[in-house]
Order: sequence, then C-alpha cells, then structure tokens
Amino acid sequence: MEKIVLASGNAGKLKEFSQLFSGWQIAVLPQSEFVQEEAEETGLSFIENALIKARHASRASGLPALADDSGLAVDALGGAPGIYSARYAGAGASDADNNCKLLEALEGIPADRRGASFHCALAFVRTPEDPVPLVCTARWSGRILEHAAGDQGFGYDPLFFVESENMTSAQLPREVKNRLSHRAQAVKKFEQLWREQMLGE
Ligand code: IMP
Repeated sequence: MEKIVLASGNAGKLKEFSQLFSGWQIAVLPQSEFVQEEAEETGLSFIENALIKARHASRASGLPALADDSGLAVDALGGAPGIYSARYAGAGASDADNNCKLLEALEGIPADRRGASFHCALAFVRTPEDPVPLVCTARWSGRILEHAAGDQGFGYDPLFFVESENMTSAQLPREVKNRLSHRAQAVKKFEQLWREQMLGE
C-alpha cells in the first residue's frame, strides 16, 4: 500500500485526511512517526507555509507528504491576522485571547465593514524537492460579529458569522461546517487534482 505523510500532529486533521484517502489504497501516516520538530513557518502566505511544511515532512520521512495551512483574513485589517491567526495575541495565545484581540481591533467598525474570510491552502509533494507540487486553495467568506456566539468548532468560529446559515460557524452542526468550510472546499479541490495528476483520470 502506498504511504503518504501528513505534516501535522493534529489528530482531527489526520482523521479527516485518512477519510479522504479511504478506498484509495493509501495509508496516511502522522509526521510524528518520523520527526518531532515542526517546520519553521517562514513564508508570507498560506501557500508558502503549506509547501514549507510538506517539504519538511517529506524530507524527514523519505515519503510523499501533504500539508495544510489555514487562517482568518479580515478585510478591515488589511488581511490580518492571516498567516499569524494561531498566534495573533502572541506566542502560545489561546483561542479566547485571539478572539478578544480581534474584537478590540474591530471596535467601532460597523457590520457592513466587518467582512472576513477563512483561507486554507493544501500542498502535496512527492519528494522534498518536488518541482511540481500539487497546490490548491479555498476561502469561506463571512463577517465578524461584535459578540461571540456558539460553542462548537475552535479558533475564531464563535465570531465568524455565516450569512447563508444565519449563524456563526461555532453554532453550525459539525456536518454543515464540514461541508461549507475553507478546509472542506480545499480538500474537495485536492481530491480533483489528485485524480487528474496522480491517477490520470
Ligand atoms: P491551522 O494552521 O490550520 O492549524 O490554523 C491556524 C489558525 O487559524 C487556527 O489556530 C485558528 O485560529 C484559525 N483557523 C483555521 N481554521 C479555522 C476554522 O475552521 N475555524 C476557526 N478558526 C480557524
């Protein structure tokens, strides 16, 4: 069976990606089986960081590797927190700290200027120096509320209002978020790319 490495220690992501590849005779292995050290995310975009992570995992394992990078870009903040979403309120910041900082940064900004999008980039490399990686991106647009609502999900979900569902992404049933989200859309595009490029379909 062909093996690929997932460049993340996140159990939830490993499960999601294992499901994606189920039935394809591909085993998705966690990066932690090969290396503990995470790649330094020195890129300036989600795509660059996803590629850095994928190359790092492939180098450490000697196997093909898949990585994702995601975050929230707020229009009124020029795209911040962007690639710094996980550490917006500082290194080791909690989701609550980050949400608090976001509410402060948007204080006084009216609803019609609080547009924001979640972004996800996926990168797959066959080798550490693969010159033709498979890369895809997706976005999920919404608006940042003035107060948190909902307790599902993680990160900025309680502040991210999804117009089509009239609720925040932390209020959405998990299966609905898993259908609409930036990550879900990117995985769908990746599946298409994989079929074309790797299976020649
Ligand atoms: P990661 O690089 O995919 O682990 O995510 C980076 C950060 O972006 C997370 O720590 C969250 O703060 C934020 N983020 C990414 N995806 C989501 C999401 O689906 N909901 C809420 N926050 C998210």
